Amino acid sequence: DASMHLRVRLARLGSRYVLLLAEDRTEAFRLDEVRRDFVANISHELKTPIAAVGLLAEALGHAADEPVQVRRFADRLTTEAERLARLTQEIIELSRLQAQDALREPELLDIDGIVAAGIDQNRVVADADRITIAVGKKSRAMVHGDERLLVMAVHNLVANAVHYSAPGSRVGVGARVSDGVIQITVTDQGVGIPEGDLDRIFERFFRVDQARSRNTGGTGLGLAIVKHVVQIHGGDIRVWSQPGHGSTFTIRLPEATHPAPAATGDTP
Ligand code: ADP
Repeated sequence: DASMHLRVRLARLGSRYVLLLAEDRTEAFRLDEVRRDFVANISHELKTPIAAVGLLAEALGHAADEPVQVRRFADRLTTEAERLARLTQEIIELSRLQAQDALREPELLDIDGIVAAGIDQNRVVADADRITIAVGKKSRAMVHGDERLLVMAVHNLVANAVHYSAPGSRVGVGARVSDGVIQITVTDQGVGIPEGDLDRIFERFFRVDQARSRNTGGTGLGLAIVKHVVQIHGGDIRVWSQPGHGSTFTIRLPEATHPAPAATGDTP
């Protein structure tokens, strides 16, 4: 962009004040670009399911006399509608998070409760695939945060771990704290992520191609949401992965400097 270059060049010749002004504008420009990209992405991502709903509705109209066909089209219509609902919900969630750079009303929360709640919602899907979710020792750590968002972050990581694993395998979830840093780790023995894609998986709508066969329900927004949630909590997220062997996602959060609740035994 020409106007941006001009501002940067002027800044180099000019005073410190001018430099700051140029950085401000660049940041505003960048945010605007992020927003425009997001809108373009959304339009693109919505096109396919909306077109599918239209085609299926039409097919349903033509199949009126054939009950088996009607059933089939109606089922697929339901699947597409569910996908659209999930997509819009996640888009709304992510756009809210993108507009937020800090927590509104942080509460003092216990990490073990958040981990348990994040796992809980994944049990049914895991059980259906005979995937065991193993939970480590309690951390007894506390965090200042938004409970709904933190549970959602853990949920998304565990959901992915289950989703990208083969039936019968194991997912491990643990939380520990050291030197004021809480680490929540989700490990799987699943398909893994190619090295070249590792830094792209947190981008909105990014999906690794080879995983798509098992990924019909995915939106590509789950990890972008996790990353934003972690960021507004002052933390970060990292990933290690070996294609064909599995992945480990680690969320790091600052521990709340507050006494943890009394110990009540270590087994979850
Ligand atoms: P999706 O809804 O597609 O799962 P995510 O944002 O949650 O979107 O993840 C982005 C992509 O990263 C996924 O499509 C998948 O290719 C890859 N991915 C995420 N988690 C894992 C995992 N535990 N194992 C292997 N691949 C994963």
